[in-house]
Amino acid sequence: MKKYGFIAAVLAATALAPIAAQAEDKLQVVASFSILGDMVEQVAGDSAIVETIVGPDADAHLYSPNVADAKAVAGADVVFVNGMGFETWSDTLIENSGTEATVLVATEGVEPLLVDGEVDPHAWNALTNGVIYVTNIADGLAAADPANAAAYKANAEAYIAELTALDAEAKANLGELPENRRTVVTAHDAFGYLANAYGLEFLAPVGIDTEAEPSAQELATLVQQLKEKEVAALFVENITSPALIKQISDETGIEIGGRLFSDALSERGGPATSYVAMFRHNLLTLMTSLKGES
Ligand SMILES: [Zn+2]
Repeated sequence: MKKYGFIAAVLAATALAPIAAQAEDKLQVVASFSILGDMVEQVAGDSAIVETIVGPDADAHLYSPNVADAKAVAGADVVFVNGMGFETWSDTLIENSGTEATVLVATEGVEPLLVDGEVDPHAWNALTNGVIYVTNIADGLAAADPANAAAYKANAEAYIAELTALDAEAKANLGELPENRRTVVTAHDAFGYLANAYGLEFLAPVGIDTEAEPSAQELATLVQQLKEKEVAALFVENITSPALIKQISDETGIEIGGRLFSDALSERGGPATSYVAMFRHNLLTLMTSLKGES
């Protein structure tokens, strides 16, 4: 009996060993910010370990990386960034970490939108671009981890089908809005791709990054413009202070239509815990506010 017990224990130990090794051997992936991190997780499924640097409700334009971020990047096999100048801190972080990871730009192949001669980095806010991100992510993961290529491909195909269906829904819904209910204001210029894709106009007192504060003169000009244009609603964002939008609302009498998630997901329990949930939340918030009394 004792002998058998011993053998069983040895067998159990050898059977467990490969499982523990597998978990350690999983592809280690780092994504620069929460929206991209969710996309990578959707494609990776159980086949890779995904870590995200800039978390929910945080501003990835102005982030300062810490030691834990450098460690995560140093230990990664693959690092995904948005690119297009979004993460002003990522090149330094990657270089200083000494990582040997493959660094991949998720926006590779996206048609860039120019705002005042600068590339607008918020490409994910059009779902057709989201499909490009997902394709790039799946290709990158498959190249780094060929053993799981089929799983990455299958996950990406299912995810792309979901994004494509949601894109059609957004086009149908936003397409119903009357012409005089299509101009809105957000704090920083993060929805240019959404505006282009779905026929809206977004105005913003701050540019495509969150660093610049508008001068009193710029704000006065904007308030004047808004009074002349038929602006349907103002929206606050999860990553910028609502103060500026509240001030504009006070000065123009235009109502605040809700909160949009532009550059980051919500904390767990919030309305935008994934890329798809974020887009749905933004679509519903826009429709609820803009469909109303025209
Ligand atoms: Zn932004």
